[in-house]
Parts: sequence; structure tokens; C-alpha cells
Amino acid sequence: MKTGLARSLGFLLMLMALLLSPVASAQDGTASAAAPTADSRSATTSASEEPLYPLSAERREKLAAYAQFNNLWRFADFFIGIGILALILFSGLSARLRDFARRHARRPFFVLWLYLTGFLVVEYLLGLPFAIYRGFLVESDFGFVNQSFLEWWGESLLSLLISLFIAIIPVAFLYWLINRSRFWWAWFSIGAVPFLVIMMVVAPVVIAPLFNDYEPLDDPAVEQRVLALADKAGIEGADVFQVNASKQSSKVNAYVTGLFGSKRIVLYDNLIKHFDPAEIEFVMGHEMGHYVMHHVWYSLLVIAAFLAFSLWLMNRWIHPLIARYRKRFGFDRLGDIASLPLILIFLSVIGFFLNPVTNGVSRYFEHQADIYGMEISGVPGETAATAFDKLSAYNLADPDPNPLMEFWFYNHPSLASRMAFVRNYRSAKEGQTE
Ligand SMILES: [Zn+2]
Repeated sequence: MKTGLARSLGFLLMLMALLLSPVASAQDGTASAAAPTADSRSATTSASEEPLYPLSAERREKLAAYAQFNNLWRFADFFIGIGILALILFSGLSARLRDFARRHARRPFFVLWLYLTGFLVVEYLLGLPFAIYRGFLVESDFGFVNQSFLEWWGESLLSLLISLFIAIIPVAFLYWLINRSRFWWAWFSIGAVPFLVIMMVVAPVVIAPLFNDYEPLDDPAVEQRVLALADKAGIEGADVFQVNASKQSSKVNAYVTGLFGSKRIVLYDNLIKHFDPAEIEFVMGHEMGHYVMHHVWYSLLVIAAFLAFSLWLMNRWIHPLIARYRKRFGFDRLGDIASLPLILIFLSVIGFFLNPVTNGVSRYFEHQADIYGMEISGVPGETAATAFDKLSAYNLADPDPNPLMEFWFYNHPSLASRMAFVRNYRSAKEGQTE
């Protein structure tokens, strides 16, 4: 859900996109080997119960095809997103939506909200064909989807509905600041932190259950091992859940989330089903590493810093652009809500070029979590390597991507390098101590 929600969230997405890498991966675990644009909408274990690991020759071909598609889609998605925003902006539709909102709402806050609702709905509809193609059709082709089209679309609409209520908060705050302070970009970046913190506390408890069921683990033995590991990691009083992620997709994942004492350890049912207990221990050790090393908090700081930089940069470039195209845009200053698509275009482009940095930070956290996972779980390197190999097999994650793609787009190190690392970890350590 995280990414699906983000997609339709528009604004929040941009906000998160900068950040998505650090934050999502800090929460999202080992699994998403790449996927900054991973669509949450899909999912699946194809009904076939045949084991997908180890990879058959046929599935290896699928993996290569999926990797190739994703490489192209990363760029396509970027340009489609910008194209849709540009269409809304240059057609004057944004200005017309604002006029409509002004006619039908009185108080400034409701004008903003009405505009935002119209904007998000239009953006959703224009993006829908692409979302269906990427999120449902392609995922179905690769055997991930476990839902009917209507079930998938229902969840997509639910995400849109949620975004209508959440996105207004940062948007209203942003325009309120723009119209009051020259240093709006700094204030907004600072204000975004408590907002994101609240979202991170609320989302797993309030929003995630709208899409999936979170229940105690079916297998008490697995639960015991996870709890024992948490104990060892110093995570006390955590709730352990298994989520029926297979309802949507056959992809595998896990995460540990929580701030201020609310701790949730979540395992996808697909993980429990396909991974051996020792492999699960390594994966969960990795996730606990993110939690114990406070990666979420560091990510928030990184996000705030990058947000401040992006908005500052935008503030230098956007005013001349508005002056030049004001007739066409139908607004003449940034503080006009009709400028929202333009702001999002800027954030999207700047974010794209910051990708290598934000993803680099994320990959560093992931590597730290891998080390932590090795230490706390105590599993042999080969076990951890098998866990990565299975992630690749089940999620069709390219283990050995082009280094440039990894540098630019991957918020996790490549699985091949992670496998090599865990295989050598124990012997390398012994070498050091000698
Ligand atoms: Zn991780």
C-alpha cells in the first residue's frame, strides 16, 4: 500500500519520493531490492503452488524480462508523471479548477481543499491507464497478482480517497507559509518532520489495516523465534503480526516499525510460507537493525534536509518561470493554489537528480542492517545468502543490475553484492581479529 497510496497522494508522494528511498526502505525491509517506483497495487502468488525456488530456467528468463521492463519503466514513469502534471498546468485546467473551487467554497481552507480534490481526481484519471498497465496488467503477466481487476481497482480508489484527506494537510500548510514568509521553504521542511512522524505512527495502525489483515502468527514456533530475536536486540514489548499480503501479491517482505514505544514487527505471510526459520531470523534481524539503529529518525533528518534544499532551489527558479508563462498558466504568483502542478514538476525533476544521493544514503543504511542481521541472528553466511537468493527468486528482483542503474535508482545494494558480503562476513571478521 505504501507506494500505491503515495502514487495517488500526489503531493505527499513528491515529499516522500525524495525520501522514499530512506524511509520506505528503512521500513520496507530487505525485500524490495530496488523499486523506487514499485507499485503497491499489485501482488500475488500466482495460484500455482509449485515452488519458485530455486529458479527454473523459465523463471530465470522471466526475471531478466522483468528487470528489463523495470529499467525502462523507471524512466517512463518519471516522464509520464511530469507529462500529466504539465498537461494539467499548460492546458489551463489547473487555473480552471481553482476558479471552480473559488466559486463553490467560501473559506480559504475549503477553496484549497476543493481545488486539491479536483486536482487529485484529474491526476488520478489521467494516470489510470498507466497505473492499470503497470500495476495490474504487467504484474499479472509476471504472475504476481492475486486479485481480480475489480478488487485491484477498489483498492486503488480507496488509496485515492485516503489521499484526499491526508494530502490537504501538507498542501494547506505549504500555501499558508508561501503567502506569509520569504523563508517558507525552510519552515515547511521543518514542519514536515512532525507531519511525517505522525504519518509513520498512524499509517501502520489506521491505514494499513484498511487494505490487509494483521494477525498473530499462525506458527507459534516462528513467533517464539522472532520474539527471542527481538529480545536479544533489546526490542521489548513488540507486537508480532503476520499480514496477509498474499491477498494482493506473491511478493515477499517484512518490516519493523514504530516510534515512541509503539513497536510492530510485521512478516508477510509469503515470507513465513517460503523461508526456513533460520532465513526468517536473518531477514528479521536485518529489519530489527533498522529499528535499533534508528534509521527512521536519520531518514527523517535526511528528508528534511533534502526537502529544504529542493524547495530552496525551486524558489530561485520558479518565480521567473511563473512571470513568463502567467497568461498560459492562469496565475501570476506562487502563492496561488493553481501553482501546485508546477511545484510538483519541480520537486519531481529535482528529486530525480537527487536520486543517487538519497538512494546512496539508503543503501548505506541497508548495508548496516545486513551487518546487524548477521550479528544478531548468528546464522551462517550461506543461510543469509540463501535468503537473498529467495528474495530474488520470489520477487523477480534482478540480483546483479547495471551499476549505473543501481547507483541511480536502487535504494538497496544489489542482491549479488549483499550475497557476496554475507558469505564472506564471518571469515572476513575472523581475519580482522587475528
Ligand atoms: Zn532494509
